[in-house]
Amino acid sequence: MSAVEIICRNCGADTLLKREAIYDGFEKSGERLSCSSCGFEYTAEADVPFKEKKGDPIIFTEADRSENVNIFDETEAQKLCRYCANYIINPFTQFCSLHKKEVQATDTCPRFEQSEEKEANDLL
Ligand SMILES: [Zn+2]
Repeated sequence: MSAVEIICRNCGADTLLKREAIYDGFEKSGERLSCSSCGFEYTAEADVPFKEKKGDPIIFTEADRSENVNIFDETEAQKLCRYCANYIINPFTQFCSLHKKEVQATDTCPRFEQSEEKEANDLL
């Protein structure tokens, strides 16, 4: 049985849901759902404050964050597509003439070639 994470409504703990079968004689008549930290009992499955729903957006934020870190990394910043000789920009797209594909100004590339011209323009 996999552990189900909950944020307990009673004690507020980030803990696990305890799921026990309730037997009426030999027949399973239901389940008892309770907090494994304080023992608070939830009357129904719909009443359980599951943690899972909050998990997904957090994963996305972490992925976004690591991309942002790359942008500000100093060594990476020297290899941004916008400073590359193969980077072409027009009103519709940003394009890498080396890879024949659309790129972002903040992309980085192992085939980076410093564009003297563009850097000079940036200084103006
Ligand atoms: Zn609790």
